[in-house]
Amino acid sequence: MICPICDKAFEKDESTHLPFCSKRCRWVDLSKWLGGEYVVPGRSATLPDDDVDDLH
Ligand SMILES: [Zn+2]
Repeated sequence: MICPICDKAFEKDESTHLPFCSKRCRWVDLSKWLGGEYVVPGRSATLPDDDVDDLH
């Protein structure tokens, strides 16, 4: 099978999260439906890139 999220090929018998290849991809799909971005850690799109490091 091909995972609809990451396009990775995987064996159907190897995944317990069908039709996705992994738990992570299932959450990615779920987050799309919910319209949330909290599943992707490390992204701080709302923080300004400049001025943050000027405190030193
Ligand atoms: Zn996947």
